[in-house]
Amino acid sequence: MKRNPTAFLREEYEELVKQGLNWILKVLSGPSQPWTIVDGKKVLMMCSNNYLGLANHPRVRQAAMEAIEKYGVGAGSDRSISGNMEIHMELEETLAKYKGAEASLVFQTGYMANEGLIPQLAGKGDLIVSDELNHGSIIDGVRLSKADRAIYKHLDMEDLARVLEEAEKHDPPYRRILIITDGVFSMDGDIAPMDEIAKLAAEHGAMVYVDDAHGEGVLGENGKGIVSHFRLSRDQVHVEVGTFSKAFGVIGGHVSGSRDLYNFAYNRARTWLLSGAMTPVSAAAAKAAIEVVQEETWRVKKLWENTEYFKKAVEDLGFDTGKTQTPIIPIIVGDTFKARKFALRLFDEGVFVLPIFYPMVPRNTDRLRIQMNSEFTKEDLDFAIERLEKIGKELEII
Ligand SMILES: *Cc1c(COP(=O)(O)O)cnc(C)c1O
Repeated sequence: MKRNPTAFLREEYEELVKQGLNWILKVLSGPSQPWTIVDGKKVLMMCSNNYLGLANHPRVRQAAMEAIEKYGVGAGSDRSISGNMEIHMELEETLAKYKGAEASLVFQTGYMANEGLIPQLAGKGDLIVSDELNHGSIIDGVRLSKADRAIYKHLDMEDLARVLEEAEKHDPPYRRILIITDGVFSMDGDIAPMDEIAKLAAEHGAMVYVDDAHGEGVLGENGKGIVSHFRLSRDQVHVEVGTFSKAFGVIGGHVSGSRDLYNFAYNRARTWLLSGAMTPVSAAAAKAAIEVVQEETWRVKKLWENTEYFKKAVEDLGFDTGKTQTPIIPIIVGDTFKARKFALRLFDEGVFVLPIFYPMVPRNTDRLRIQMNSEFTKEDLDFAIERLEKIGKELEII
């Protein structure tokens, strides 16, 4: 048979377009900040992870420029070979101190932290227990593991208890059990009950792994994250993964916990061992970002003030914001094309928000995902609320 080996590329793309499930890339001509130029138009950006306005903070920029002067732009190697610079070690120390952990290990991205760690922490003869709505990078990490896997219903502690009880009966007994959850779920903005998860885990001798990408800089004392939010110890939550690409405004993943975890992780995680080091520029910027969060404590407070003000306003208008408990505020529309139209019309009116559709969220829960920012003024929020009301009525969503 004579086949065309690449015909599927276009066919599958065209099918996505037909279903309205393709991504349309927008182009920024300036920094990530509340008012910026997107596709040539000045808009209020409400779909950025830059919760605390650090992506273009003067001190973070300055730290990046000084790092270029000292180290150049690239580390020249994997950290395991010759790319491990002072600035990486300083970043890890700063982060561990901030997190109140014995040690923190920095990866190139949060995605790579999950992909590298999960298959090493649990393998053949072990069980991974995972929330059904965990992030794709966790799902991929689990797929790379040779461990058995069990999924529990989203945030459902009775179901988690049931899974753990069943696991006890496994013959031969599981060597290790690893419970993994997102801290803050990025599509709904709801929070994992880490206190209850930690309690169940302790009863069953399981290890607890939380990916707090959207909780850092947001939850807990000074934005320290979900472990601080629930006042848990490192003996209760053993592995805390995070990222510098969200509230910290830079790029890079990390894991915090015991010194044993640190030593194990950097010797075993293949994404750490076999991939180039985070650039010194990013490392310096991430370190400065952590310092700014601790010094400018008003940022986390303002983020929450904005969240409360905005959430109440859109709920009063009659929008469905689902179960959010965080600065991620979904506006659930239901239909894919309607969600996309909503976002397009808002963009015309100067508000940049993201439509989220299957497979990022279950079918028929298509939505806009709005994210708060400590840099929004009351005028910015009122501007967005007014446009949401106008277009929401126009499209008969409210
Ligand atoms: C964004 C995100 C990641 C990926 O982090 P990066 O550092 O951007 O690769 C991982 N896990 C969760 C829960 C996330 O929200």
